[in-house]
Amino acid sequence: MLGTALLAASRSRRVRAAVTKSPVTRKVVRRFIAGDDVNAAVDTTRRLTSGGFAVTLDHLGEDTLDRAQAEATRDAYLTLIELLADEGLASRSEASLKLSAMGQALPGDGEALAAENAHAICAAASEAGMTVTLDMEDHTTVDSTLGILAELRKDHPSVGVALQAMLYRTEADCRDLATTGSRVRLVKGAYAEPKSVAHPAKSDVDRAYARCLGILMGGLGYPMIASHDPRMISIAQALATQHGKGQDDFEFQMLYGIRPSAQEQLRSQGSRVRIYVPYGDDWYGYFMRRLAERPANVGFLLRSLVTK
Ligand code: FAD
Repeated sequence: MLGTALLAASRSRRVRAAVTKSPVTRKVVRRFIAGDDVNAAVDTTRRLTSGGFAVTLDHLGEDTLDRAQAEATRDAYLTLIELLADEGLASRSEASLKLSAMGQALPGDGEALAAENAHAICAAASEAGMTVTLDMEDHTTVDSTLGILAELRKDHPSVGVALQAMLYRTEADCRDLATTGSRVRLVKGAYAEPKSVAHPAKSDVDRAYARCLGILMGGLGYPMIASHDPRMISIAQALATQHGKGQDDFEFQMLYGIRPSAQEQLRSQGSRVRIYVPYGDDWYGYFMRRLAERPANVGFLLRSLVTK
């Protein structure tokens, strides 16, 4: 219930204004966000990669209906890629893109604009030796995102995509993408979805996640297991053994600031672990989804407000 309310609030302008104005919220936000600018992103990348992790960087922002803003987001990624290359950090880094921040929802030629912006980022990333993965947003964007993915992969075959186990369609999407060269990040799904398209019960989402894992780990692509759930991690490890996948044939991914001890444990056992690092000042939507996933985070926020 609280999770659903928080997901609804993540799209409310009124709640956004109240939450983002509070200086105390910003303190809590820092637990999940690397910092406000690209220098913070580069510093965090340096720290994490020197500790043996790979990273994927998300320049925060989504749902833009403004062409100039979409182009500014593209340029922010181009700057990031250039800085990472200059610092010698590109080979352990990836860019995570939200196509809605690239203009996907603009009326008329939004999809073409998002594809063009993503193309420019993929070209710069390839040049620098970095990979790119497309985040997946709410269910209305899945067909468009997979269409743009197919276009991008013609020139940049390593571009990956996130698939959300909560959606009924995802097992079929996993089968389509479990092919040589494809990179799929499997997540449970962070958006409020109607039961016409998604499993409403968490236990069903977990079962679907395990089935999708079976398809991806048994397939020919490169699975990216993005979950903090110890059960999903164990299932992935068992499937890797069953299908003869070595440590370099798949990777685990977790969000910056969430279960850092589990991140460290997996890394020290020899697994590839990539940390998803969000940065930038447009953190509201991302932050609210993290609160919705774990009501205890709301308690953490409220305690900070009270003890201020
Ligand atoms: P859960 O069952 O939700 O959580 C398992 C355990 O992890 C919890 O018991 C708790 O201990 C811990 N945990 C989980 N979330 C939190 C939190 N917010 N705060 C503190 N502890 C927590 N979703 C999308 O829809 N599209 C994407 O493109 C996308 N990309 C992602 C990339 C990465 C690398 C990761 C890790 C997640 C991504 N997500 C994305 C979010 C994902 O869909 C889930 O909402 C999120 O990962 C929580 O699910 P879980 O698998 O960790 O399992």
